[in-house]
Amino acid sequence: MVIALPQLIIGSMSSSSACFRDVTVGGVRIIQRLHGNSRVLGRQFGDSCHRFYPSFDRGYTGVSADTVKASTLGCSALTSSKIRHISRTSSAGRSESWSVPLSFGSVCSSSFSTATEHRRRGKMVVVPSVKLNDGSEMPVFGLGTYLSKENEGVEALRHAIDIGYRHIDTAFFYQNEKEVGQVIKEKIAAGVVKREDLYIVTKLWNIYHDPAKVEEACKKSLDNLGLDYIDLYLMHFPVGYKFIDDNHLLPKDEAGTLQLSDYDYLDTYKAMEKLVKKGWVKSIGISNFNSEQTDRVLQNCEIKPVTNQVECHPGFNQKKLIEFSKQRDIVITAYSPLARPNPAEKKPAFLFDEKMLAIAEKYKKTPSQIALRYLIDIGTVPIPKSANKKRLEENINIFDFKLTEDEIKVVDSFHTGERINPFNLVKAQNHKYFPFALEF
Ligand code: NDP
Repeated sequence: MVIALPQLIIGSMSSSSACFRDVTVGGVRIIQRLHGNSRVLGRQFGDSCHRFYPSFDRGYTGVSADTVKASTLGCSALTSSKIRHISRTSSAGRSESWSVPLSFGSVCSSSFSTATEHRRRGKMVVVPSVKLNDGSEMPVFGLGTYLSKENEGVEALRHAIDIGYRHIDTAFFYQNEKEVGQVIKEKIAAGVVKREDLYIVTKLWNIYHDPAKVEEACKKSLDNLGLDYIDLYLMHFPVGYKFIDDNHLLPKDEAGTLQLSDYDYLDTYKAMEKLVKKGWVKSIGISNFNSEQTDRVLQNCEIKPVTNQVECHPGFNQKKLIEFSKQRDIVITAYSPLARPNPAEKKPAFLFDEKMLAIAEKYKKTPSQIALRYLIDIGTVPIPKSANKKRLEENINIFDFKLTEDEIKVVDSFHTGERINPFNLVKAQNHKYFPFALEF
C-alpha cells in the first residue's frame, strides 16, 4: 500500500481541507496535496526541485529529477509559491526532506520563524486525513490534551502546532479549553496556521445531558476556545451526571457516591444535531459508546456520528468495535493510545515486549511509535497526549513507514482485554446506559 513504494509527498504545510491526489511515476508513488485554489505544481516545480535539490534523483530506484520535471503530475498550474516542504521515503525506509527556499514563499514572515525553522530542518510532518461520513476530513492523528494544563499544556500545544499537529482533542471536562483557544488564536495571528487548517474537537460533559442544557454547554466551550465553530463535538459518555452547577463536574453525595442522571443519550444526541444546524459545530460524534448504543443512535438520528472515540491501544485493541464501526462508516478515534505509559512499572506490557522491541529496531523507531503506527494501520485515529517536546515529535513521526500484515498480527497478540479507563465510579452503580458491560 502507501509505503510499499518509494514515496514522495509534495504539498503545502497548511490546510487540513487539503485533499491528496495520488499518481505513480517511475515506480514512485507521488502524493500531491491539493487545496483550495492553490493546485500545486507542474513543470515549474520540477525545475525548482532540480535547481535547488540536485541530489533529488540520487539513490532511489526509478526516480529522476526529469521524471518529476516532465509535468508528470499532469498539472500545469504554476503555483510553486505554495510549496513549503518536500519529503520522501525510500522503500528501504530512508527518509529525506527539504524545505522550499523562502524565495519561493508567498507568505513567509518573521512571525513564522519557529514553524519555518521546523520546516527548514524537515521536522514538520504532514498528517494525512480521512474522509468522514458527512464529507468532512479529519487528520488521522491528533494531540490529546487530558491533564495538559496551564503553562505546560500551552507550551506543548505551541510546539505541537509548529511541528505539524492539526487535530487537537480537548473537552469541557479537561478544563483547558481556554488554554487551547489561546494557543490557536496566537498561532493564527502569527500566520502559522489558518483556522481551517485546524481540526478542533471538544466534548459535551456528562452534567449537561439534559437536552435543554446542550446548547448552553456548547456555547461555553465555544467561548472558552474563542472560536466561531467547533470541528467535532462529541458526547463524552452515554451516561449523564446530575447537574448541580458548572463547577461540580463529578457531583457526589456525602458518602462520595457519584450522582448520575437518567437522561436518554438519544435525546441528548438529538439536541447535539441542532448544533450542527446552527453552524456551531461542523460534525458530531460519540465517545465511549458500545455497539448497541451506537446502533440505537444510528437508527434514530438525522445526522450520523462521524466517530466513536474509545480507549484503543495494543493492549485493548477494539478489533470487534472497529470492524462494527467500519461497516457503519464510523471512524474509531483511539484514546489512551499508549495506555498511559509508566516506565518504572514497565507498563503497559506491550511497550516492553521483546517482539515489540524487535519491530521497533527494524524500523529504527521506538515501541511507542510502533504502537501508534499500528493504530493507524488498523484504521483508527490515535490521539496521544504529551506535554513533552521530544515525545510530541516522536509521536507524530510515524508517517514514513508502515507495518506488515505479520507485524500487525504480532501487535494484535498483545491484546489483553483490560481497559485502563474502566469508569469504575459509574460501573459501581450499574446504570442502564453503562457502556462497558457488553463485549464491545
Ligand atoms: P496516552 O496513552 O496518550 O498517554 C499519555 C501519557 O503518555 C502521558 O503521561 C505522556 O507523558 C506519556 N507519553 C506520551 N508520549 C509518550 C511516548 N512517546 N513515550 C512514553 N510516554 C509517552 O493517554 P491519555 O489517556 O492521555 O489519552 C490521550 C488523549 O485521549 C487524552 O489526552 C484525551 O484527549 C483523550 N481521552 C479521551 C477520553 C474519553 O473518554 N473520550 C478518555 C481518556 C483520554 P508526557 O506528557 O510527559 O509526554
